[in-house]
Amino acid sequence: MTERFKVTYSTLASPDPKLHQLYDEAVERAKANFGKNYPLFINGEERFAEKTFEKRSPVNLDWMMGTFQYGTEQDVNDAVAAARAAFPAWSGRPWQERVAIMRKAADLISDRLFDMGANMSLEIGKNRLEALGDVEETADLIRYNCDAVEKNNNFNFPLLTESDKHHNRSVLKPYGVWVVISPFNFPGALAGGPAGAALIAGNTVILKPATDTPLTAWFLTECFRDAGVPAGVFNFVTGSGRVVGQALLDHPSVDGVTFTGSYDVGMHILRTFSTAKYPRPVIAEMGGKNPTIISKKADLDKAAMGVMRSAFGLQGQKCSACSRVYVHADVKDTFMSKLLEVTRQINVGDPTIKDNWMGPVANKGAYEDYKKFVADLREGGKIVHGGELLEGNGYFVAPTIVDDLPEEHYLWKHEMFLPIVTIAPFTDLDDAMARANDVEYGLTAGFFSEDDDEVQWWLDNIQAGVLYVNRASGATTGAWPGYQSFGGWKGSGSTGKAAGSFYYIQQYMHEQSQTVVD
Ligand code: NAP
Ligand code: MG
Repeated sequence: MTERFKVTYSTLASPDPKLHQLYDEAVERAKANFGKNYPLFINGEERFAEKTFEKRSPVNLDWMMGTFQYGTEQDVNDAVAAARAAFPAWSGRPWQERVAIMRKAADLISDRLFDMGANMSLEIGKNRLEALGDVEETADLIRYNCDAVEKNNNFNFPLLTESDKHHNRSVLKPYGVWVVISPFNFPGALAGGPAGAALIAGNTVILKPATDTPLTAWFLTECFRDAGVPAGVFNFVTGSGRVVGQALLDHPSVDGVTFTGSYDVGMHILRTFSTAKYPRPVIAEMGGKNPTIISKKADLDKAAMGVMRSAFGLQGQKCSACSRVYVHADVKDTFMSKLLEVTRQINVGDPTIKDNWMGPVANKGAYEDYKKFVADLREGGKIVHGGELLEGNGYFVAPTIVDDLPEEHYLWKHEMFLPIVTIAPFTDLDDAMARANDVEYGLTAGFFSEDDDEVQWWLDNIQAGVLYVNRASGATTGAWPGYQSFGGWKGSGSTGKAAGSFYYIQQYMHEQSQTVVD
């Protein structure tokens, strides 16, 4: 175990030198650990499959981080059976005991911050602060949901009563077996956050992580195991989404699912899983095509910094990344020169090296997409920065700024999920708003203006779940549990409720009204 180091907003903004040293040491340990064979974890036991797949680092394709199991239908059936069998005892325990175990899990995640963060950087190309932030966010999401249950007496409330002889209550109870399917881009927070919530609520869980990020999910599995989560209560299955993921969703004994990932897969799950023999809850968190509007009354230094950080942080692979900018024609040239200036300062390279703010994109598919999108953007549009592949033995691409893209170009509406931002001028704020809202998505949005009336107008009219005004640290990115709620509208999310806020964990339980007459 490494020394405990609390990451907060302020430590991430101006990190202590000690943080860098601990991270650098953990990178060396991570490299020394390359090449292990990692199991499935079913009913409290490690299990190996006949077929395995290699996890290579996108930072350097020669780095074979480990092999992972291709789970089979049998593994899925066994995991569901184990979760089903473990449900009565886990849900029947006093909620205080579940909270205590999950707080322990959160503390173990914090204890292992540097090892998990260093491995995550190598696994998916996150820079050190992004990776450490993701790990600590995972722990904080679990703590946040423990707090929510505690503050609300596990959502056990009295109802109105007709007389002293009537005892009427509303209680929330867990559904049963909950599947969590997580994406590659926040492999800690978006696996451990939902899994933690489901467990705290009293469900048993099967986690199927993205094929690009099985290692972070394995570290989480170890934290749950070591915290004392009983056998069968938390299970970990790797393999492809189409096979293992789909088999989990098709299983009749699964009661609910949290999916975080692309619009296409999320909509497929909503259309199929939630209409089985009876309705089953789906929490689907999907993509984004997040706009930033820059008024002529904006502070353009803030706007340029905010857009740069949102568009290119984590290589544009945040669901909250800013991918469209609408800037007032009067200030567009000045904004563009400021944006170019801050973008030129970005170093792209091995993200475990302190000076590199951008790492590689996640995988070959993303790298190929980048080539295709850049070629398509050149048709009609003008690439004013980037648009090229960079040297290295990993998937390195340049941060890319596109101007003059015709309004009808399909890439104004398609989520690219890459470090590419398109910029357009406007002369009328209402017209900018209409264009900002004219997409199927509604996850995050940003606005820059120093005029309070404009700010209120923007807050009243933009269609998205997570809004930021004048945020230089990220025009559309950078939510933290308890500080921002995080969830999408329209095609970005299915429930209308967000994570890291008041209404999240209740979704993992159904309500029961209990009337008892003496
Ligand atoms: P993805 O391709 O949709 O995959 C997400 C997960 O679904 C992976 O674990 C994947 O497994 C699995 N999967 C794929 N097909 C499946 C199927 N038929 N049945 C069951 N599971 C299946 O998404 P991604 O590329 O990992 O992540 C990027 C996307 O996530 C972007 O669209 C981004 O905007 C979105 N995202 C949204 C949020 C949010 O909070 N709204 C947060 C983060 C990311 P494999 O990896 O094995 O294919
Ligand atoms: Mg994918």
